Amino acid sequence: MALCLYGQGAANKYSGEGMAEQKKGYFHIIREKYCKGCGICVAFCPKQLLVLRNGKVFPERPEICIGCHMCEYRCPDFAIEVKPLESEPSRGSDVSTYDLSLPPEAHNG
Ligand code: SF4
Ligand code: SF4
Repeated sequence: MALCLYGQGAANKYSGEGMAEQKKGYFHIIREKYCKGCGICVAFCPKQLLVLRNGKVFPERPEICIGCHMCEYRCPDFAIEVKPLESEPSRGSDVSTYDLSLPPEAHNG
């Protein structure tokens, strides 16, 4: 399944300076197979950081995400997920160890 994790750049940014003032950050999991490019998440994102690129959603500025999960809640296809950076798979780790399956609620109805 085509799956993309976005936000690693933000991790670098937050870990660079002033560790004591480290900001909370988020990264995005996009299940491209399920994204139909409807733009609902784009419309509901209060920070307007999501865009459509080649018919799929793309977090253009993940570093300004506030983690409100509005995109996740509004997506009818469970195609986008937002996680705190502390749960991000470490660089070079195997993303297949991450749970990429659709959540159980996606299979109801
Ligand atoms: S709401 Fe879901 S299906 Fe629609 S563009 Fe966003 S992620 Fe893709
Ligand atoms: S969690 Fe909120 S701020 Fe972040 S991309 Fe989704 S809707 Fe936008």
